[in-house]
Formats: sequence, structure tokens, C-alpha cells
Amino acid sequence: MKFETLAIRTQTNRTAQQEHSTPMFPTSSFVFDDAEQMRAMFADEQEGNIYSRFTNPNCTELEDKMAALEGTDDAVATASGMAAIFASFMALLKAGDHLISSRAVFGSTHTILHQYLPKWNIEVTLVDPSDQQTWADAVRPATKMFFVETPSNPGLDIIDLEAAKAFCVKNNLILNVDNCFATPYLQKPAQWGADLITHSATKYIDGQGRVVGGIAAGRQDLITEIKKLCRSTGPALSPFNAWVLSKSLETLAVRMDRHCDNAERLATFLMDHTQCHNVRYPFLDSHPGAAIARKQMKLGGGLVTFEIAGGLAQGKRFLDALKMLSLTANLGDTRSIATHPASTTHAKLTPEARLATGITDGLIRISTGLEHIDDIIRDIDQALILSAQ
Ligand SMILES: *Cc1c(COP(=O)(O)O)cnc(C)c1O
Repeated sequence: MKFETLAIRTQTNRTAQQEHSTPMFPTSSFVFDDAEQMRAMFADEQEGNIYSRFTNPNCTELEDKMAALEGTDDAVATASGMAAIFASFMALLKAGDHLISSRAVFGSTHTILHQYLPKWNIEVTLVDPSDQQTWADAVRPATKMFFVETPSNPGLDIIDLEAAKAFCVKNNLILNVDNCFATPYLQKPAQWGADLITHSATKYIDGQGRVVGGIAAGRQDLITEIKKLCRSTGPALSPFNAWVLSKSLETLAVRMDRHCDNAERLATFLMDHTQCHNVRYPFLDSHPGAAIARKQMKLGGGLVTFEIAGGLAQGKRFLDALKMLSLTANLGDTRSIATHPASTTHAKLTPEARLATGITDGLIRISTGLEHIDDIIRDIDQALILSAQ
């Protein structure tokens, strides 16, 4: 079956009522037929739901659907994207191991890499996503995993997944890809050999700004380890959030088509604007990763970044001059949003570390929503002109 069909027809659970649409299972625990069945389930000899920290039918449907869409063996749902990323490190790395990460990764991921992993004696080296020599230079005997994000948040850096896999095969590393910005509709890292794929489902998978959730999908042996960790440590996704996210996946393909179309039109408009420099969009020819983006992505995604002519001061005036776009952190919503990474998501990094990930004081990130493109462009244009005065 094709992507759109799998997203709609992967339906794991119905009750005796034969609901057409999957119902919600808001229950903390499940009953057993008898003592012997209870014993067998606790002993892992028989499959079934015991307790919603372990499994819940709504989470199982979301996991089955994401595994089908990513083309992986299995998946595990978590309470947030960060919980999925953190669980993937905690389940698969141990004290003394070394992790190589692209330096262009999400702000909270940097916090895990620098503030928490070292506490458990897991060392981290950051590398340049577009300079493969820095990857090779970082390898040590203890290196176990390569973590990358493409396109990256917020710099929209592109990493070549085929090259990343070849590097991991050569050095016997687990390739772990944060696929949040692309979603499996635009990019399937498993097709290029990724062992593990993590998601903030909060973004495009919900797509309507309602719930927080995460997913890790991948090879069976790796997901089994992550499931075991989650079962004991408890970052379980709530049945309600899982129900929302599974429903949302039914419309992911049509939403992404429109997000991408709007973003490409916005990027084209901004390229000619006197108040913007360095407009970045993965499918623009001026993007240094455009050829790789076109190789591994179906469309360019919903995010556009640019640098405002007057730097930090004009950036703030621009945000204040917007009439329709929301000032909020959550990307991938139906509503277009504008953010200023230097003062928000990446404020905890040092200015040098920020610059190393491509974040200048004047960087503006637009998550292009599903409003009419004429209205999105009109609002941004008037704010750019007003902020220049
Ligand atoms: C938002 C985001 C995360 C974190 O996800 P949460 O659901 O907020 O925990 C991780 N990676 C990327 C690329 C993100 O944009």
C-alpha cells in the first residue's frame, strides 16, 4: 500500500462495537481472564496489554502506523520528542561509550549531549554536518552512535543520509536520525539505511498544535531495547495523545503538500525582498545542500529562514510588527509562526556555539502554516517594511 493508504488504513484496535474510527482507550490497566493468563503475560510468554505504562491500544496503533510509514520493523511512542531521543541514548549507550553528533541539532538535544550524557561518562563529539572529514576525525574505538538531524532546526542544514550510513557501516555505528522536520512523507531515513529514527510528534505529526508526543522507529533489536527502558522508566505517551496523533497521521500527506507549497512560494518572495539576506529553503538552488535535499526528500519542507537586514534590533521590531503570524515556539502547526532562535530555543548555548550551528542574531525562522499564501506573504511583507523604518 502507498503512504496515504497506510496512514489511513493502519488500524490496530476495534472493540466489539466495530467502530469505524478507532476509539480511545483511556484506561490505566487491563483485566485478565484468569490467574494463569495473568502469570503468562507478566512472564512475557503471552502478548497483551497489562498496564498503560507498558502498552496501550492507542499507543500500539500509533507505533504500528509510524513503523509502516517509516518502513521500519517497529516503533515506540513516548511522551515527547525529547523523551524519544533521550531513551534512544539511554537504552543503547553505556558508561565509557562515545557518541558523535552533528552540531546542527535541536536546542534541548544539545542540553542532553552536554549536560546529561557526560554525567554518565558518555562522551560526545560534535561534527560539521557538511564536512565528512570532521566525522572521520571524531571516530574513536569507543564510538557507538552517530546522531544527525536533517533538515536541522533551526538552520535547515542538510546531511547526506547515504554518506552518513556509509560512515556508520565503516565504523560499526548506529545511525540515529531526527526526522522531525521532514516527516516520513518527505524523507524515509530507513531507505538510506538509518538504524533508528526519532520524531517530535508534537510538530507535523499532530500538525494542529494540540498535543506533545514522540516516536522512535527502527530496527527490531534496537526498538526492543528502547521499549524495555521505557517500560521501566515511564516516559509513556497518554492514550489521548496517541489517539490524536494517530488520527492526525491520516491527513499528514495532504497537509505536508500544502505546507511545502506555501513555504516554497514564501521563500521565492523573500529572495527578492530588500530587507532579507540569506534566505534558506532546502529546495532553493542557493541552498548549499540543495542537491542532497532533492536526492533524499520528496519536497523541501515547511520551514524557511532568513536574516533580517538590520540584525537583532530589526528582528525584534519585525516580530512585534507581525499582525497575523504567531510568536510561538511550536512549528509544524496549521498556523504560520515566526521565531527568533538566538533569544529563545538556542538562548542557552554560548554565542560561539550558536554561530557554529549557523544561528546569527538576525536569524528569523518561519514555519509556514496552512493559511492562504497571499495572507502569509502580506503579513510578512508589511512587518518587514515597518521594521525597516
Ligand atoms: C521540537 C523538536 C524536538 C523536541 O520535541 P518535543 O516534542 O518538544 O520534546 C526534537 N527535535 C526537533 C528537530 C524538534 O524540532
